[in-house]
Amino acid sequence: MQTPVLSQRAAAAVGWIVSATLVLAPSAVGTNKVKLHGYLTGRADSTTVVILDDRIETSSATRVLAKDEAGEHSFREEDLAPGMLVEAEGQWLDKHKFFAERMTVDLREDDKKIRGTAYLQEDPVEAAKIASGEPSELKVDGYWLQLDKSTKRDWNPAKAGAEGPTQQTVSVSPVLAAYHVKYEGVRQNDGKIHAETVQLGPPAPADAYKIPHNLGIVRGKDAQTGIDTLEFRDNKRVQGRMKLLAERSVQEYVSQLGDSLIPKGAQGTSRAIEFRFFVVEDPSINAESLPDGTLLVNTGLLGALDNEAQLAFVLSHEMAHVLQTHYRREVEETRGSRIGLTIAGLAAGAFIGDAGIFMSQIGIASVVNGHQRELENQADRLGLQNIIEHGYDPREAPNFSRIVINRYGDRTTSRLWSNHDSSMLRGSFLTTQLMKEYPQNHWDGTKKNTTAFQAMKEDLGPVKIM
Ligand SMILES: [Zn+2]
Repeated sequence: MQTPVLSQRAAAAVGWIVSATLVLAPSAVGTNKVKLHGYLTGRADSTTVVILDDRIETSSATRVLAKDEAGEHSFREEDLAPGMLVEAEGQWLDKHKFFAERMTVDLREDDKKIRGTAYLQEDPVEAAKIASGEPSELKVDGYWLQLDKSTKRDWNPAKAGAEGPTQQTVSVSPVLAAYHVKYEGVRQNDGKIHAETVQLGPPAPADAYKIPHNLGIVRGKDAQTGIDTLEFRDNKRVQGRMKLLAERSVQEYVSQLGDSLIPKGAQGTSRAIEFRFFVVEDPSINAESLPDGTLLVNTGLLGALDNEAQLAFVLSHEMAHVLQTHYRREVEETRGSRIGLTIAGLAAGAFIGDAGIFMSQIGIASVVNGHQRELENQADRLGLQNIIEHGYDPREAPNFSRIVINRYGDRTTSRLWSNHDSSMLRGSFLTTQLMKEYPQNHWDGTKKNTTAFQAMKEDLGPVKIM
């Protein structure tokens, strides 16, 4: 089951987000069957469900199916509910109106039963209570788990630490930030998750935070033009270079915002992570995080953003990829052997023309193309939680997906094919995540924009966006 091709022409793979147009040229509608993939965000009436801004209409002729472990079976249209992951096949009737001939609900994704694994992004406040079996709360994986007497706990910091790499931390009391947690639970009506099991494990090994092939990233300068660059270096040899945006004020703004959002767990990892933020000249709406904590923010992304809350979310999402060692998890889970360093045809002094191709040549294509959906969802949950704790309006996260869909969706071009999530899937996941995880919260009074962001946009000026 692949993510649908909404429009061959316009589906584009871009690191934190994969945009796919929902706005088809009228001539394309009618002849082409189109698939939409996303989480239902609402229900308009008895025959219409909603994903973000799009209404999906059904009729008595619509076939509705559900898919679970047992296979496919029929499903009642009236049982379609917000939060369900669906694939609709049909045609656009209008810009935001879709007629579904067929709908498939993915019931394998149970939204009540929650299980997963994650590295702690901060030291748990109630670590002592968790260890002693008392009722307590554990913030992990973008969730708040509620532990009570019935929770099965395997929580022994000394044992977990001894199993893992020796921690470099020179700090005081046992720091559990960056330790691994495996959990299972059930979502309650208030949105909190009752934990059935929690298990503490060791932090990731130090080499989980290394760029393959021992590449390092350093600032440089082009000898002839004096342009500031970012160099991918293999010892002394430059394997690739990217152009840094010249406007210093923009670089500084992004660095300062990024620094202010670094989760506390960054201090507990077995290899010290130094997050660095660089704005690179690249028109695609994208940001990339490298395993060592280097974050690249494209000028095309800055140009497309509306406010600081959106940028804070993108940066938090990218930092979660680093802290959760997603690059390593993907290599391990897919058994994708590390590919050889074959950067063919790139003259030593040439600039990287296409970051996607370069990253795939050094074996980290997912940095640009997106990780598997489970990992992207994890980075989204953690990103949302991080910006909420920094006082931002989390509704701006799905709003950014809307911008990409509505304003740029039909203009983005595909450079590297990817079957990863579309902006619709991303935006609807974020929306349903907010509905489930924070049902009681209202976000009035939270931060959306700042004068610093607006000043940055002015200094940036008009940029090319693809
Ligand atoms: Zn991502």
